[in-house]
Amino acid sequence: MTIDQKQLQKALAALIGEDNTFADGPTLMAYAKDTMPWDVESQNIPLAVVRPGSSLDVSHVLKYANDNDIPVHTHGSGTSLVGLGRPKTNCIVLDMGRMQEFKAYPERGYFEVEPGMHIGKLRKALAEYNALLPVFPGSEPIATIGGSISVNTSAHAVDASLGKPGDYVLGMEVVLANGDILKTGTESTRKPAGIEITKFLVGSEGLLCVITRIRMRLIPAPCLENIVAYYNSTEDILDTVMAMYAKGIPTPLFFEYLDEKSTVVGFNAVGLEPPEGAVAMMTIHSATPEGCRAKAKVFLDFLKQTSPKEARIVEDADEWGKIWSSRAEAGNYVYRLGATFGSEITVPVDKLKEAFLEAKETILNLDSYKGNEFYSFGHIGAPTIHAYAFIPTKDIPDQVKKDVTMEVRNKTESLNARYGGCGGEWGLTSQRVGFLKEKYGQTYYDFLVNLKKTFDPNNILNRGNLEGWM
Ligand SMILES: Cc1cc2nc3c(=O)[nH]c(=O)nc-3n(C[C@H](O)[C@H](O)[C@H](O)COP(=O)(O)OP(=O)(O)OC[C@H]3O[C@@H](n4cnc5c(N)ncnc54)[C@H](O)[C@@H]3O)c2cc1C
Repeated sequence: MTIDQKQLQKALAALIGEDNTFADGPTLMAYAKDTMPWDVESQNIPLAVVRPGSSLDVSHVLKYANDNDIPVHTHGSGTSLVGLGRPKTNCIVLDMGRMQEFKAYPERGYFEVEPGMHIGKLRKALAEYNALLPVFPGSEPIATIGGSISVNTSAHAVDASLGKPGDYVLGMEVVLANGDILKTGTESTRKPAGIEITKFLVGSEGLLCVITRIRMRLIPAPCLENIVAYYNSTEDILDTVMAMYAKGIPTPLFFEYLDEKSTVVGFNAVGLEPPEGAVAMMTIHSATPEGCRAKAKVFLDFLKQTSPKEARIVEDADEWGKIWSSRAEAGNYVYRLGATFGSEITVPVDKLKEAFLEAKETILNLDSYKGNEFYSFGHIGAPTIHAYAFIPTKDIPDQVKKDVTMEVRNKTESLNARYGGCGGEWGLTSQRVGFLKEKYGQTYYDFLVNLKKTFDPNNILNRGNLEGWM
């Protein structure tokens, strides 16, 4: 079906207002690009961008799109790292950024938020209620709560200590592809037992519905203590994570690290003298300062039985600020100064070191590009390995960028499948259809396709992601 772009723009403006409907070239191009290393292609360019202000607006747009067979891509802030952020087909982009209402109900133990609120802003709003938001992506100043619940990731060791953000979602308001508005879940703090729709929709990556309101438990903010440990090598840190699980040591809230190369760029960037070797940083949490201090001491005692050059509680907030941000700075370095191809490997804990070394070898011996470098930093305690192939220039043909992306993706996904892990922290569906079939089989994949059909029979929502289109 050919779509008359002018007519579409007019129809959308009539539905949700001219001020909230865009079809100018620069706006369309801005929504076509995401964090993937290669450039925009014609199929990524939207037909129109709309900014709904309410669930009713969303409903009107979806109903129109569904009736006219026009795909819709939902956009939070587009910060997903692995291709979810860009439309895979010419479509209407639904930018949720205007929907930012927030209200806390401390007397009921929950808050409600619209999906477009940024994580950083929501964290500040919740601090007034002494509540913790269990979502910590490195992109938190701009990533939205709607995007985060749609992907259901939390990062850090939070997975192993608190759980996924979706575990705290009590209910949602969502709009289905045909425009129907559906309310799910409970207004109690006790989640429904048994079969229940909220859990299908959390983590559904915009494939099954558009989330327009989220109700989440207020989690009392814990007290925190921070620890830094310097090791001779990354391998020593991997041994430490494996020992932590084997010995049943309570998992910290955050357990992050910098490998040897990342330590140099990260520490230099924050004005600290880089130590030789690799750095681990942990945050311990507990309900009271005394409990937290005691727990941190137990963790420190455990660390001292591993082989650190030094391990200590960091009392000084400025010093901790620098140490903590060194990992974000290492990320900025690799994202800014070259072409970066990331992967995520989540393997059984006892295979962490073996899988890390195999991933490193794999990345240093790619077929699609010779001479790349290996960096690894970020979350490790859950345990997750982020292995980055870094090419110290952005000046590489797009086709090579695609080839490297796919080689890194396929080879690390094979590691995930072989070792029994899942990857998936960033909500990878658009690039992991091959992995889903390899690990779980065609029946599993067909089940997902049928699930989508149940919610979205005309495949309007995020068309191309479940198909694995680039
Ligand atoms: C520097 C950096 C660091 C990052 N660190 C982490 C990290 O530590 N952990 C981590 O998990 N991720 C991380 N990310 C990835 C990403 O930022 C997060 O996954 C984030 O939660 C995505 O939010 P977003 O608003 O940008 O969503 P988008 O990228 O816009 O959307 C993500 C998916 O959700 C869908 N979606 C968005 N909003 C809705 C809605 N209201 N209803 C239905 N579907 C919707 C989209 O269609 C898309 O499929 C990082 C990204 C960057 C750039």
